[in-house]
Amino acid sequence: MPREPRPSAKTGRRGGALQVGATLADLEISRAWLVDPFAGREGAGEIVVRDGEIAGVTWLTGAAAKGVDASGVIVAPGFLDLHVHLREPGFEDAETVATGLAAAAHGGFTRVCAMANTSPAIDGAAVVGLVRAAAAASGSPVALEIVGAVSAGRAGEKLAALGEMTDAGVVGFSDDGAPVKGPVLLAHALRYAGMLGRPIVEHAEDTALTSGAEANEGLVASVLGLRGWPAAAEEAVVARDLAILADVVRDVPGARLHLTHLSTAGALDLVRRAKAAGLPVTCDVTPHHLALADEWIAGARRWAWEAVDGAGARRDPVGAGAPVARDPWTDAAIVAEPFDPDLRVNPPLRDPADAAAVRAALRDGTADAVATDHAPHTLVDKEVEFGLAANGISGIETALGVLLAAVDAGELTLAAAMAALTSGPAGVLGAWTGRPVAAGLKVGAPADLVLFDRGESWTVTPASLRSKGKNTPLAGRALPGRVLLTVAAGRIAFSDLD
Ligand SMILES: [Zn+2]
Repeated sequence: MPREPRPSAKTGRRGGALQVGATLADLEISRAWLVDPFAGREGAGEIVVRDGEIAGVTWLTGAAAKGVDASGVIVAPGFLDLHVHLREPGFEDAETVATGLAAAAHGGFTRVCAMANTSPAIDGAAVVGLVRAAAAASGSPVALEIVGAVSAGRAGEKLAALGEMTDAGVVGFSDDGAPVKGPVLLAHALRYAGMLGRPIVEHAEDTALTSGAEANEGLVASVLGLRGWPAAAEEAVVARDLAILADVVRDVPGARLHLTHLSTAGALDLVRRAKAAGLPVTCDVTPHHLALADEWIAGARRWAWEAVDGAGARRDPVGAGAPVARDPWTDAAIVAEPFDPDLRVNPPLRDPADAAAVRAALRDGTADAVATDHAPHTLVDKEVEFGLAANGISGIETALGVLLAAVDAGELTLAAAMAALTSGPAGVLGAWTGRPVAAGLKVGAPADLVLFDRGESWTVTPASLRSKGKNTPLAGRALPGRVLLTVAAGRIAFSDLD
């Protein structure tokens, strides 16, 4: 019996090799699995790109589709990350705009939103211009969006130049790294930003409750002797923000709140109810909060979905059917040294039941998107005692693999995982700015897509990461789904094709 022809991607670049930044002359992807969350469609298909523009999308049926499935080469719209830290200006030892955009492209991302906690903070048009110039100088085709600071210098005292920054093109405002300090400032910020047609992006943390905190409050922190970081620190600020939003939106219908990196079952349930009540709120969750749990700090290395019990583990986010975290010591799940500083992150890795609630929130639409909170750090900021290590995980290059691991485990469908990286965040960003940001696999649009081999895994090593930040707890782990090609706005952003 003759074998089915394998999926293939053929490029016809004038002058030879695929060069980052160059316009993609020609690309013919035959017999691949196309996933287009914008159209709500996936299946066997073919894509033709001419001079950087999608010239043809063919969905295969019947005999032509035979032998093509979701286990091989997959083509999806380029990923969009609502939350990254590119560290420039001020912390170029940890990352630069250029290395951050290269890391994004390696991870399959074609558009990222950079946070304002640089030095100086991005709190006016001048610094916005500086960051944009760095992006232009990098030559990367990955689109850089900028989230400006809420308060001048991120000091939490008075509003930054929100109007000036809106004119300079920022997509929202956040004091990320810290919450908007105090309810009065938040009310003013929601009101003013809402009038400008921009959201407030909130890092929900009551810093009075997290002073000196080291790890999620619970069994693992108790056993390891780490100071607890309570769920209430996140939930109290989410509740505060939603109450203030409900108040402000009566006067300013354009007011919008986006809660980033939510990590607890309680916080997500507050958002679930607020959405049901019609409040203009959106939220994102991170790959690490859905797939890792606090037991990793003790030395466990199983995925979070392997660490819960309960018939409702995949269905009921809260209540009687909610999943129950297993004890890693009883399970003999401790396989590594404790206190890896690369596991220190803000908000902290929560227990496996919270991680299950994060996945449930993605499935039921409470969470609009997966955002990486890519937070590169230098070795000197990380190779210290656990409680003193800088918070953050370098995560933009491992996001796809982590989500595919969840797909492999039956925790998410492939369509849901792809939507969380594409149409989900695009919908959020579109609502922030009032302009559509991406169209999916559509004929006539500049090619903006990622091609990855679902059947191939790769091992995370410091050398494999384009980011300067090598701070990942996944080092040494094999992840499914190797990115072969990332095309942003018709130009080559990353290529591992021959
Ligand atoms: Zn944050």
